[in-house]
Amino acid sequence: MQSEDYERKARKFIPGGVNSNVRLAAPTICFSHARGSKLYDLDGNEYIDYALGMGPTILGHAPPSVIQAVQETLSLGQLFAGQHPLELELAELLAAHIPSAERVRIGLTGSEMVQAALRVARAHTGRPGFIKFEGQYHGWFDNVLVNHSGPANDPAGELPFPIHLQTAGQAVSATTDTHVLPWNDLGAVARLLAARGDQIAAIITEPVMCNTGALAPRDGYLQGLRELCDQYGVVLIFDEVITGFRLGLSGAQGKFGVTPDLSTFAKAFGGGFPVAALAGKAEIMDLFGAGSVNHSGTYNSNLVSIAAGIATLRELTADDGALFSKIAATGEDIMSGIRDAARRHGANLKVLGFGAVFHTLFTDAPETYDYASYKRADAARQKRFMDALLPLGIRPTGRGTWFVSAAHSGEDVDRTVAAVDQVLRAG
Ligand code: PMP
Repeated sequence: MQSEDYERKARKFIPGGVNSNVRLAAPTICFSHARGSKLYDLDGNEYIDYALGMGPTILGHAPPSVIQAVQETLSLGQLFAGQHPLELELAELLAAHIPSAERVRIGLTGSEMVQAALRVARAHTGRPGFIKFEGQYHGWFDNVLVNHSGPANDPAGELPFPIHLQTAGQAVSATTDTHVLPWNDLGAVARLLAARGDQIAAIITEPVMCNTGALAPRDGYLQGLRELCDQYGVVLIFDEVITGFRLGLSGAQGKFGVTPDLSTFAKAFGGGFPVAALAGKAEIMDLFGAGSVNHSGTYNSNLVSIAAGIATLRELTADDGALFSKIAATGEDIMSGIRDAARRHGANLKVLGFGAVFHTLFTDAPETYDYASYKRADAARQKRFMDALLPLGIRPTGRGTWFVSAAHSGEDVDRTVAAVDQVLRAG
């Protein structure tokens, strides 16, 4: 079977032919297997993969240490909700690296951990409301899906998210109590909290907007959120599902030196397997243990995923994070190669981010801290750029996010930069 046949047949049984909202390539490429930094499709093509499944496979595809740990764990039998020593080992490893992690709760997906964080924040404060920021993505549940980086807002315009909630700004819905504010605007947060701080349980934010442009916080912004949360008794939640173990081994909270009350992790630390974590202050997290807040799940203590998480974290953090530093350095080499190519060819291609995860976008904006300027980026040019890279065997995500793994080699970097050069030269 080739990709085209797959697409036609799959649409008969799978809505839209794909089991996700995110179609990472159009037309659909159907993959046969993946190894290291490479993906292989049914049509015989090889791609250097910078999508990495939207970030998880930070050690590359099928890393031997993770595969071996998973295989060994399979022989233990399938234990459920088991209170197994491996769970403790993973929780200890996470707590050793995440500054805010006095307690850790392990689950399966980022979306699930976000919901658990919001729920426990409500229980802790006795308040109903949340603040989130324009364009930020926190998973696919309705209360946080409002005003995320969907088709209306996304320059790549290619994410068919089912937005059925209002997206028209503040105080969006009495049913969700979710207030949407502009990112990087402390004044907006201060005004809302002054008006109704006593109704707000939590502020949730991606500390760097990695789903949209790798937009960094302005100097003092995260600290300002921390101070406002302290002033109004609001729980500060960092959604580190992408930034965790990518921006640094202590996540964005370590990099920017701001400790949230709760933070969510998934993707990279599982090395490609479904495992996620909610970490935070004992005072709040212990509400789970007391049984007063429900966070349950048949597969939560899935030892296969837990073993993958342990193996991944051990590799990433060994020798003071030598491997992690190598991944970041590889990403920085690609970033500077792309910047040089853009300069050579007079392209207004900007490269934002932090090595292990970065973003390319076409914009004349002098600074891109705010989501509004990200939205003004040239979407059509971005799409042409991404489409032109694919036949050259380079596969970032369609929307311009690039994830780098330990498996990306110097040769991959050279091939990637040469392909970017070729595409930009052609205009
Ligand atoms: N939060 C952020 C910041 C994310 O990027 C994602 C996934 N892209 C999620 C939450 C949801 O995680 P999952 O897809 O594992 O449910």
